[in-house]
Amino acid sequence: MTASSGGGPATLDRTGALSLLARCDELATYSTLPGGLISRVYLTEEHRAVNALAAEWMIEAGMRTWQDAAGNQCGRLEGRTPGLPALLLGSHLDTVPSAGRYDGILGVLIAIAAVDRIHASGIDLPFALEVVAFGDEEGTRFGRALLGSRALAGTSDPAWLDLVDEHGVTLRDAYTAFGLDPSLLGAAARQPRELVGYLEAHIEQGPYLEEAGHALGIVSSIAGARRFAITVNGHAGHSGTPFDRRHDALAGAAEIVMLIERTARDAGLIATVGHLDVFPNAVNVIPGRVELSLDLRAESDADRDRVWQQISTDMTSICESRGLTVETRQTHNAPAVACSPRLRDAIAAGIASTGNIEPMLLLSRAGHDGMAVADVTDIAMLFIRCRGGVSHHPDEHVLAADVAAATDAFEAAVLALVAATPELADGPAAPSAPVAATSAPATPGTEA
Ligand SMILES: [Zn+2]
Repeated sequence: MTASSGGGPATLDRTGALSLLARCDELATYSTLPGGLISRVYLTEEHRAVNALAAEWMIEAGMRTWQDAAGNQCGRLEGRTPGLPALLLGSHLDTVPSAGRYDGILGVLIAIAAVDRIHASGIDLPFALEVVAFGDEEGTRFGRALLGSRALAGTSDPAWLDLVDEHGVTLRDAYTAFGLDPSLLGAAARQPRELVGYLEAHIEQGPYLEEAGHALGIVSSIAGARRFAITVNGHAGHSGTPFDRRHDALAGAAEIVMLIERTARDAGLIATVGHLDVFPNAVNVIPGRVELSLDLRAESDADRDRVWQQISTDMTSICESRGLTVETRQTHNAPAVACSPRLRDAIAAGIASTGNIEPMLLLSRAGHDGMAVADVTDIAMLFIRCRGGVSHHPDEHVLAADVAAATDAFEAAVLALVAATPELADGPAAPSAPVAATSAPATPGTEA
């Protein structure tokens, strides 16, 4: 597999697919887990280390860098004149426990590679380019996803500062330990007028591209997700207790897990119970309390909310019939987000430049930073085929050829936006880039 084309010989070494994959391998070494397993969460030494590495690569790509007030690593390449609104490019550097090495990471590196090539080509830009490597997308450490991208969007809730990690450290104290001032978190917020849009490349996390034999696809929208913490309360007791005297919280929780699967499946939605804690969790004690998680997602918020109502009602009936009680608490609520037609067209032009003129349109069932960023600017996403659709697992795998195509397409998508921006069309150094059939705004950065 040779390195990708499109950047010219001067940039081939730094932005070729193989060197990009080598960077994924290097980032994978920053982990809190032994034995080659990857786990890297928000506001840790590992986070600090990968930010430093990303900053180094951003500087090599011609960018000025900084870490924002929320610990997101940022880099900026100025446009024709300093201070123009920016097209944001990015993804996240944090991971789930026992993660793969591409989810999020690949998108950050493709963004840096695209900027590197554009910088090296000396193209006159009608807007600035910024790469953002978000510090928290997965929500692994504090149980709340998108902490980095929400801060950028200015939608952080001050109450989140009281969230605690598994060691009892608050988000507030974690910011301080990271060298950030939690009272200044608002400084990470960007304004719509400063932004042209947000583009993200990400592995698909699904099997559809692979099944169709496509390397790349366009995201239509990102499914809305709600998460709940569910507690089933019964009575702990000796395992010699007869059945008719028991209030077994785990038996009730098991019924609830099956109810959730059945209800979501019947409604055509996705629901997952991924976490279960049993108390007291002893071999000869009837479980007195069970805590479980529910992650519910759908293309339509209305469908998702209707299914939650049904699950909630049926869950209460199950518990009543067993002499149990149930409490639920919502821990996450993100509405479905549609990708902007203008930016989708640019992604389509980017993929077309790699030879695929009829790219697949895909719903993202997984959440992404773009869900948060959509509160301040238009978003669109490029999906990259991954082996077996596997993600959030050490088996995550991408082909070097697909990474090469994705980098070419991502760069071409940016250039399509450059070409479609009216000021540049009259400028002295208009690039020969695929022109997207878009309705670009007369002035970049004015769209909300
Ligand atoms: Zn991701």
